[in-house]
Amino acid sequence: LVSRELQAHDTVVDVGGVSIGGDRLAVIAGPCAVESPEQLHETAAAVKAAGATLLRAGAYKPRTSPYGFAGHGIEGLKVLREVGDDLGLPIVTEVMDTADVAHVAEAADCLQIGARNMQNYALLRAVGAAGRPVLLKRGLSATIQEWLLAAEYLMAAGNPNVILCERGIRTFEPATRNTLDLNAVPYVKGKTHLPVVVDPSHGTGARDLVPAMSLAAVAAGADGLMIEVHRDPSRAWSDGAQSLYPAQFEQLMGSIGAVAAAV
Ligand code: PEP
Ligand code: MN
Repeated sequence: LVSRELQAHDTVVDVGGVSIGGDRLAVIAGPCAVESPEQLHETAAAVKAAGATLLRAGAYKPRTSPYGFAGHGIEGLKVLREVGDDLGLPIVTEVMDTADVAHVAEAADCLQIGARNMQNYALLRAVGAAGRPVLLKRGLSATIQEWLLAAEYLMAAGNPNVILCERGIRTFEPATRNTLDLNAVPYVKGKTHLPVVVDPSHGTGARDLVPAMSLAAVAAGADGLMIEVHRDPSRAWSDGAQSLYPAQFEQLMGSIGAVAAAV
C-alpha cells in the first residue's frame, strides 16, 4: 500500500486543516515536552509568529532512563489542546501505549509514533485503526525497508494518512547524537507516495547543527521539518541541547524560503 508502484501521485495528508505533502513545506515546531501551560504557550506563540504551521510537544515521553521526566500524560494533552486551539495550530504528539491511543486520538490532530516504537506492531495496529493522521518516526536502527513495512502496518490497518519522519539513525559516529540520513529522503520519495518529514533536532542532538541540516533536508526534497524549540533551552526538562532558541528558529525560517523555492 505504501508503494509508488501502486499509487503514482504524492499523498497529501491533512492534519487539522494543514497539508503535509504537496507543494508547500510544512514546519512542525515546539518543545520536546509539555512542561507547563506558560512554557508551552510562550514557545508555541514564538514558533507561530516565526511561521510554523503545526505545534509539537510530548505529553508521553519515551526516556532512556526510567528516572527521566516521562511527561504529564493526560494533563499535558489537555494543555497541548488548549494552546493549539488558542493559537490555531494543529497539534502533533506522541502516543507510546496502546492503552492511551483512544484518548490521545481524541485530543490530537496527528499521532506520533516514536523511533523506539517503530516496530511495536500492536501499537502500529492500534494507531492505524484510530482514525487520525500518523507521523511515523524511523527507528534508531531501522533500515528503510523496515521503516516502510512499519508504515505498511498502519496502512493495512486502514489508515491512509501516514507521514514518514527521518530522525537520524545510530551509526559508528559518536560525535553527534545520531546520524541524520538524508539519503533516505530522495530514496524513500522514489519508493513511496507518502510525505517525508525530517527531524534535524533528534537527528543531530545539537542546536547549532539544526539550521544547516534543516536547509539540507529541504534541499533533499523533504515535505516538512519537525524542529524542537524551547523558550529557554537551558532550562528544558528534556532535549535542551538540541532545542533552538526562538530567535534562532525565526532566523532559520527566514532562510528556508529561498531553499524551498529552489527545489
Ligand atoms: C520526540 O520527538 O521528542 C522524540 C522522542 O523523538 P524520537 O522518537 O525520534 O526519539
Ligand atoms: Mn525530544
